[in-house]
Amino acid sequence: MANDLPKIMNYINGELVPPNSKKYIDNIEPATGNTYSLIPDSDVIDVKNAIKSAEKAFKKWSNVSIEKRAEYLETISLKLLEKLEYLSKIESKDNGKPLKLAKSVDIPRAGKNFNFFASAIKHFHSESHEMVDQNNLNFTLKQPLGVVGAISPWNLPLYLFTWKIAPALAAGNTVVAKPSEITPMSAFELAKICIEVGLPKGVLNIVHGRGNIVGENIVNNDAVKAITFTGGTITGKRIAEIAAPKFKKLSLELGGKNPNIIFDDCDFDKMIQTTIKSSFANQGQICLCGSRIYVHENIYEKFKSKFIEETSKLNIGDPNLEDNDLGAIVSKEHLEKISSYINLAKNEGGTILFGGNKPKIEGRCKNGYFMSPTIIEGLGIDCRTNQEEIFGPVVTLQKFSTEEEALELANGTNYGLSATLWTQDISRVHRMVKEIQAGVIWVNAWMVRDLRTPFGGMKDSGVGREGGFEVLEFFTEKKNVSISY
Ligand code: NDP
Repeated sequence: MANDLPKIMNYINGELVPPNSKKYIDNIEPATGNTYSLIPDSDVIDVKNAIKSAEKAFKKWSNVSIEKRAEYLETISLKLLEKLEYLSKIESKDNGKPLKLAKSVDIPRAGKNFNFFASAIKHFHSESHEMVDQNNLNFTLKQPLGVVGAISPWNLPLYLFTWKIAPALAAGNTVVAKPSEITPMSAFELAKICIEVGLPKGVLNIVHGRGNIVGENIVNNDAVKAITFTGGTITGKRIAEIAAPKFKKLSLELGGKNPNIIFDDCDFDKMIQTTIKSSFANQGQICLCGSRIYVHENIYEKFKSKFIEETSKLNIGDPNLEDNDLGAIVSKEHLEKISSYINLAKNEGGTILFGGNKPKIEGRCKNGYFMSPTIIEGLGIDCRTNQEEIFGPVVTLQKFSTEEEALELANGTNYGLSATLWTQDISRVHRMVKEIQAGVIWVNAWMVRDLRTPFGGMKDSGVGREGGFEVLEFFTEKKNVSISY
């Protein structure tokens, strides 16, 4: 570990500070395999300091007017967008995603998250219920919870980090947040922006480090009233085990194994173009990517050949290059995990129709972590390849003949995050959306997101909903006040 590398710092009580341990973890650029900065290896002391500072800031922040809170959030949003080019480069370098994707999706959305909740909080309202016959009026107070913990993953680093922080702050809470140790850089930049815009000390605290140390200590601390978590289902279970006996509010956005159901009456060209994106965008590392593709038997062969043809046109390599559609996988460990699933698929009897290998990239990225987009055929619903989340550029194809069969396949895993349905038959749409077990369903589209809508999964994909007023409800405690007069 080279000590002269730039060091990321924690953001506690309004200041950038080194970790208590003075120890650091290597931060690796996935596209090159090089260590390029150092991440604080924070411990329980850093977490306690952050929580203390958030506790201290809570009283003042929760009494700041909604207009003023919104103004802070809007200013942060503007700063994020002002720094679009710079932040996009940072995000792409840290995560391996194509620069053009960070520039068109990740950073604009991070800005939008702050802007959206700055506005949403102004429209957040509460109810009153009058009992005229008893001269009584009930009204509902919605108050911030206090200190809340926010823990986010590496796949959409700033996008998901701000998706949690913005509504929590808007609702008047103070926050202790932990980004993934694999992609900490944009969270560090957010801390600098908060200092630049004069966000009051302690309102937001960011502690970097390992999930099982920093993350668990945030979850475990009694002063933290709620946890908003996005990440894997196994981590979500661990968090629930710790937090549930303490009766903390929990919002868990977890893994997925999302089905694409494609009928023979769909708009074929639009479906193919969108399915390429829903399969391989961000190297398949979006929780909403469709990894199980079910195609009606009448168009299965046509779909298969066109899908392979379009996949073969995707460029993979240096994320900085405009022409590349796929960048690097986030880490060596994750690349190996994806690779092991491809081997598993072969052992389970699957046929690799396309990809399945680690492509050789020349030049700057020769030691980077790359995986070809991979299409697999010949596996049934019960095998591990079709049951477990791979979270990479890997999809399986299977044909179906009836609506019932499609539903059985789509609902045949423990997950229930999202689903995509392709058909022009409106009656079929209404029939099927009622039966599909997923919290987010797209019909003839993918990743079209209105931030006012409830977002989250069913079954092992999570508990609770983010977005719109739903998340503001989560970040507030309701008190009913009944007044007789
Ligand atoms: P992980 O569950 O490994 O990690 C998520 C976050 O939790 C990281 O910040 C991690 O820290 C932290 N963490 C790890 N262990 C603990 C612990 N014991 N206690 C508290 N925090 C902990 O997920 P990944 O980062 O690998 O992200 C990929 C997963 O996220 C996939 O399953 C994907 O489907 C899911 N996801 C779900 C989304 C949704 O909206 N439903 C959206 C995006 C992703 P560290 O990184 O330092 O270990």
